[in-house]
Amino acid sequence: MKGNFKTEIFKKIDTPFYYYDSELLRQTLRTISQEAGKHPEFCVHYAIKANANPKVLAFISQAGLGADCVSGGEIQAALDAGFPNDKIVYAGVGKSDWEINLGIDNDISCFNVESIPELEVINELAAAKGKVANVAFRINPNVGAHTHANITTGLAENKFGIAMRDMEKVIEIAADMKNVKFHGLHFHIGSQILDMGDFEALCNRINELQKQLEMHHISVETINVGGGLGIDYHHPNRVPVPDFKAYFDTYARHLKLRPGQTLHFELGRAVVGQCGTLVTKVLYVKEGAAKKFAIVDAGMTDLIRPALYQAYHKIENISCDGPKQTYDVVGPICESSDVFAKAIDLDECHRGDLIAIRSAGAYGEIMASQYNCRKLPVGYTTEDLAKIK
Ligand SMILES: *Cc1c(COP(=O)(O)O)cnc(C)c1O
Repeated sequence: MKGNFKTEIFKKIDTPFYYYDSELLRQTLRTISQEAGKHPEFCVHYAIKANANPKVLAFISQAGLGADCVSGGEIQAALDAGFPNDKIVYAGVGKSDWEINLGIDNDISCFNVESIPELEVINELAAAKGKVANVAFRINPNVGAHTHANITTGLAENKFGIAMRDMEKVIEIAADMKNVKFHGLHFHIGSQILDMGDFEALCNRINELQKQLEMHHISVETINVGGGLGIDYHHPNRVPVPDFKAYFDTYARHLKLRPGQTLHFELGRAVVGQCGTLVTKVLYVKEGAAKKFAIVDAGMTDLIRPALYQAYHKIENISCDGPKQTYDVVGPICESSDVFAKAIDLDECHRGDLIAIRSAGAYGEIMASQYNCRKLPVGYTTEDLAKIK
C-alpha cells in the first residue's frame, strides 16, 4: 500500500494498465447529483468521449446521468451501458448517414446540429422513416476560454457550431421542415476550464441570445451549455472531486432561464478525470549525458495528453520511498514527443518500480492507439482488483 494504491495487487497485473478508483467515481457522482439536484431544472449528461470503458459507463448510467455522444459508436456504447434513449443527445460537426439513422432508429432525445446541410440530411433521413427528430442548434457563442488553444471550441475561428448571426435563419428553416422539431440551443466553449468567469461569460451571451430570439417570438425548450469544467491535475489528492457547487451555482446565478426551460450540462473530464490512474513499470534508469531518464513501459499510445497538449500529470513512484532524484519520465515509443514529464523529482527509481500517472481517467484509455503494434491498455476497477488473487 502506498498512498491509496494497493501495490501488492498491482504487482500481479501486466503493465501498463488503467486503474479506476470506484469509490472516488461514486463519490464524484454523488456530489454531482447533490449539487445539480438543488436546481430542479438542471439535467446532467456525461460526455462519453472522455472515457467509454463499459465498467465506467455502467457506474455513470446507474447514477442517473444522461449521455452526450459525438459518434454512432458512442450512441451504441451509451445504449449498451444502459443509458435510456431519451437521455441521449448526439453532437458533432460531421455526422454520417448511418450515425444519424442509428440515432433516429433509437429515438434519441436530440441531435445537436452544427450546419444547415446537416439539418437537411437529418430531415430527409427522418422522413424516410416516417419520424420526427428533435434538433437543437449548436451556436458558436464566440466566447473564449482560458485553456489550451487545442481545446477551445467556442471562438468564431473554430470549426464548431453555427454563427450567432445565422441563428434565427436556421431556426426558421427548421420550422418549415416536417421531420425535424426545434428543441433548443447548444453551446460548448472548451475543456479544462477552471475560471468560473468563462462560464459566466457564456451565461451572459446566452441571455443576450434569448432576448434576441424573444423579439422574433421564438421560444426555446432546452438550453444545453456543454461541459468543460476542469480538474486539479496538480493536486489529485487534495482536490479529488471538482468544485461542482461553484460550477452549478455559477449557472444558477447568471443564466436567466425562462419558465419551463430546462438546462442541460454535458460534463466529461470533471466526472471521470480524477478516478483514473495509468500504472506503469520502470524498465530502465538511464544516465544520459546531461540528465537521468526513467524509461517506463507506458507510452504516448497509452496516454497521449502530454504529447498532444503538453498536459501535466502528477507522477509518483508507488513502489519505493527514497531520496528524491530528478528524472525525465519517457516511454518506449519511437517519437521524441513520447515524454510524460521532464525534470521532475521522484522517489529514487529502480528497474521494476511501479509508477502512477495520476488524473488519467479522462481522455486517457479512450485515446489509446496501437501505434508501434502495441497492445491497448486494459482498465481495472476497484472491484476487478478485489477478484485478483
Ligand atoms: C467534449 C465535449 C464535452 C465534454 O467536455 P469536458 O471538457 O470533458 O467536460 C461536452 N460537450 C461536447 C459537445 C463535447 O464535444
